[in-house]
Amino acid sequence: MVDFKEVKIPEGDLITVTNGKLQVGDHPIIGFLRGDGIGLDITPVMQATVDKAVAKAFGGRRSIAWCPLYFGLEGLHHYGTVFPDEGIAAIKHLKVAIKGPFTTPIGEETHVCLYCAHQQYHSGRCDNCGRDDGVSPRYRSINVGLRQSMDLYACVRPVRYFEGVPAPNKYADKVNFIIFRENTEDVYAGHDFQKGSEVALAIIDLIREKTGREIRSDSGIGVKPISVFGTKRLVRKALQWAVDQGLSSVTLVHKGNIMKFTEGSFAKWGYEVAREEFGARIVTEKQLWEELDGQLPAGKILVRDRIADSIFQQIQTRPDEYSVLALPNLNGDYLSDAAIALVGGLGLGPGANIGDEIAVFEATHGTAPKYTGQDKVNPGSIILSAAMMLEHLGWNEAAELIIQGMSAAIRDGKVTYDLARLMHREGRTDVEELSCSGFGEAVAARM
Ligand code: NAD
Repeated sequence: MVDFKEVKIPEGDLITVTNGKLQVGDHPIIGFLRGDGIGLDITPVMQATVDKAVAKAFGGRRSIAWCPLYFGLEGLHHYGTVFPDEGIAAIKHLKVAIKGPFTTPIGEETHVCLYCAHQQYHSGRCDNCGRDDGVSPRYRSINVGLRQSMDLYACVRPVRYFEGVPAPNKYADKVNFIIFRENTEDVYAGHDFQKGSEVALAIIDLIREKTGREIRSDSGIGVKPISVFGTKRLVRKALQWAVDQGLSSVTLVHKGNIMKFTEGSFAKWGYEVAREEFGARIVTEKQLWEELDGQLPAGKILVRDRIADSIFQQIQTRPDEYSVLALPNLNGDYLSDAAIALVGGLGLGPGANIGDEIAVFEATHGTAPKYTGQDKVNPGSIILSAAMMLEHLGWNEAAELIIQGMSAAIRDGKVTYDLARLMHREGRTDVEELSCSGFGEAVAARM
């Protein structure tokens, strides 16, 4: 047993990985990071909902052993830092964790308050909320830190419609797909050089020298690396998800018509990994039409590619034709937000960052500090992320109960203030506005 100072590992089964497969006992130990701000409200509601779903699905034979891990405000209190090494070591040890949102400093100020997200130029007491134990020196995003320190290379976002949610798109009820966005490469890799800097000017010179092509000398320069390694491991994960969940297509989305050797190669290498490692399970679009008369045989996965701009149209006009989408980083970022807007917005968007062995599930919204501790906000995002986590563990029965409970609560108009407001605006008169914990109970009662 690894020795931790602040982390107390509870009784239960340690999750292990053998030959790339998760080994999950009946009482797996799962890390949970409460999060800052409304993390305080939503994380306990998520835990209670998951416990009820698991108990109901497996008749008490299975349960989760929750292990608190301290980051953000809790990290500051336990370790004096928002991003403790021990927390990272503990997630690596446990393999699966779920997190609430964390405060991310964005301005130029040197300090940030982890209670109310106020930024200021001194430590000690917060000028906004008056608390004197929550002000931290500024830091880089905890979310980015988690991804980078554990190489969580796939950002996974399921997008589905829940009946009753006011959504702008006529075909919203046909939306049910999952996005795998590459998390470590592309123009987001951080190779971004200021106009006039030594590196920017050297790159401009190099390109002129080697290709004869000119770039304006007053340009900022970004570099867009997309590798065989980064692409294949992302597409492999998307294909494996389709296999594990019995889904019928994986679509490689790219802008290869313009950027042949980065975006275009993403599609090329994606097809390669599909053929090399999933050969017997996959059918390409060419095979579908030339050999199979357009009929996908049962159990097979259609692998195809689409240009990025067309996919933004397709998810609006024919969303039911897509089940798994795999994209490079930048387009994946845009598409994830556009897709969630189709079904009514970020409030109910779950997500996860997944690597080869480790997975961290997360609420995708922020800390909404003005609502902290009021038992008011919508816990839907983190509860649905927990459902994804249960699928990841192979506990699909419990995940389905959560989806079923949440669908029914929303359909019945038992919702938190954010959805209640939208439903009222649509003219619904049977809506009951519930608290955060009240919504959790409404979901559990309908499982
Ligand atoms: P936010 O998502 O916290 O809040 C924006 C608005 O959305 C809120 O005022 C609230 O009205 C609404 N909202 C958010 N979550 C809700 C929920 N669960 N239920 C109902 N309504 C909800 O974004 P922000 O105000 O820009 O950021 C606040 C802090 O959160 C910042 O420090 C920011 O950097 C951080 N943040 C963290 C994450 C993350 O940890 N994944 C993501 C986004 C923002």
